[in-house]
Amino acid sequence: MAQVEFKHVIKEYHDEKRGTFTAVSDSNFVIQDKEFVVFVGPSGCGKTTSLRMIAGLETQSSGDIIIGDRIVNNLHPKDRDIAMVFQDYALYPHMTIKENLSFGLKNLKRPKAEIEQKVMDASNILGLTEMLDRKPKELSGGQRQRVAVGRAIVRDPQVFLFDEPLSNLDAKLRIQMRVELAELHKRLGATIVYVTHDQVEAMTLGERIVVMNKGRVQQIASPSVLYNQPQNMFVAGFIGSPAMNFMDARFENGKAHLEGATFTLSEAQIRALKAYEGQPVTMGVRPEHIYDPLFAQKMDISDVNSMNATVQVIEHLGAETLVYFRVGERMVTARVNPETDIRLGQTITFIFDPNKMHFFDPKTEERIA
Ligand code: ATP
Repeated sequence: MAQVEFKHVIKEYHDEKRGTFTAVSDSNFVIQDKEFVVFVGPSGCGKTTSLRMIAGLETQSSGDIIIGDRIVNNLHPKDRDIAMVFQDYALYPHMTIKENLSFGLKNLKRPKAEIEQKVMDASNILGLTEMLDRKPKELSGGQRQRVAVGRAIVRDPQVFLFDEPLSNLDAKLRIQMRVELAELHKRLGATIVYVTHDQVEAMTLGERIVVMNKGRVQQIASPSVLYNQPQNMFVAGFIGSPAMNFMDARFENGKAHLEGATFTLSEAQIRALKAYEGQPVTMGVRPEHIYDPLFAQKMDISDVNSMNATVQVIEHLGAETLVYFRVGERMVTARVNPETDIRLGQTITFIFDPNKMHFFDPKTEERIA
């Protein structure tokens, strides 16, 4: 069993400028055996520090880290049975690909035949057999990335740790490698912990995602739960592109009152918002859930929750068109069908999907409904 668990893990750094700085505060989670879990969050949120603590490259200030059935708090990285793939691949430039792949096993003094077999197996899986005699500089970025993964595979570890492994690749190659990594996970049936700041990468790769911000875990859930039931405004705004729109509203008499519109709510929404009668709330709607009249009609979506607004900006992206308009002080984005004829300065009736509206407490930023 290669489960990875954090129990009340805290990591503090001490430096002259910031004094004591908490990079990871009271982190708790269980990554199941064979699960692909992604740590995601903006720069500095503590995701790399968390990964490095699993690897044993950083020591936690307090709490327990468990891999399999062992508490590994004080265990040296080489004794943790993990393999890490770094952002810069960390290949040895003077060695051939074959030497790079076998290096770790040679260090472990494994029998020659076993090393040979493992290197061949990994090369086959990753399509590297043709380039075993080349040096890293003779490989493309994507191929080098595969060698870095191969070096982890030959070790046959309990847990694979990936630290932003695709960030040095161009956009097209990143998508290709993303697919390869997902396939590799299925094939290896291994536990994978993967760090990225890219929410799209997190959503496509992770079976579950740990969303972090400012050293705190914000939510741990599957991609669809993060998208449909975000815990708070941070998660709601971080997951999804373009980001969820937030609008100021007031809840009164079972309705949400916004500048320029009053929206009817469902029974469940009214129940959840009961304690907010007469109070301000923050309404959240994703751009893909605000429709132009033609689309709403086609999809048979009622126009009870609609608002007239003047189009401020239009972005044609090919497969979709983004339309920007103002609600009060806030700029709101709608993602509309590119075939809809919308012009700058035009006043449009935008229809908000009643089943896709979220409400947040403006102070705590937690989701209410
Ligand atoms: P990025 O995407 O930029 O790598 P991250 O989420 O991985 O960000 P971490 O590298 O885990 O963030 O860093 C978390 C915080 O801890 C940051 O504020 C960082 O400055 C701080 N930090 C990391 N390593 C050290 C260190 N050795 N000494 C002091 N502070 C550190």
